[in-house]
Amino acid sequence: MFNLILFGPPGSGKGTQSEKLISRYGLRHLSTGDLLRSEISKQTSLGLAAKNFMDKGQLVPDEVVIGMISSSLDENPDAKGFLFDGFPRTSAQAEALDKLLQLKKQQIAVMLALDVSEEELVKRLIKRGETSGRSDDTNEQIIRARINEYRSKTAMVADYYSQFNKVVMVKGEGSIDEIFESLCREIDSRL
Ligand code: ADP
Repeated sequence: MFNLILFGPPGSGKGTQSEKLISRYGLRHLSTGDLLRSEISKQTSLGLAAKNFMDKGQLVPDEVVIGMISSSLDENPDAKGFLFDGFPRTSAQAEALDKLLQLKKQQIAVMLALDVSEEELVKRLIKRGETSGRSDDTNEQIIRARINEYRSKTAMVADYYSQFNKVVMVKGEGSIDEIFESLCREIDSRL
């Protein structure tokens, strides 16, 4: 199995690149943002509770997202590997993920971290808000709150994986295809 974390701030291109990567490598895409939005559209109690946090640009509590990831891993016993997108977003989530993978005798092969300037992030997210229908993309204040959550709670998740020499920074500005090729080079050298 090849398990990969695609890491980076909101708007860094994780969703776009994930779609391309899963189709090239046959990985199973696990995006906590997508899983949460699916719960919201089904109006489950988990979704309704999560929406309150998401609409303010805040992280959803760890136990909620860890539970969702745990179920998704169990639901896909035959996966060739997982691409984690938007998870782990806190140190507690990273430690929980390691434990869940250990139970399955698995581990994270690499964390690819997309590097994008804050100015470019805000520009991309405002533009995405014009068409995505995502309520958390529609105003700059919520976008800034998400970037602050990233800085204060998520950025250090890369330090966690650095201890194990698993982090590779990839330039996240340029064309979608250029960034994709950079990501593929890193993956190919580790397969
Ligand atoms: P983006 O990275 O562009 O903000 P996501 O779809 O990954 O978009 O996340 C949207 C929102 O969902 C986040 O702002 C947060 O509220 C919630 N969320 C997603 N993943 C997690 C996670 N792993 N832990 C906590 N909250 C999460």
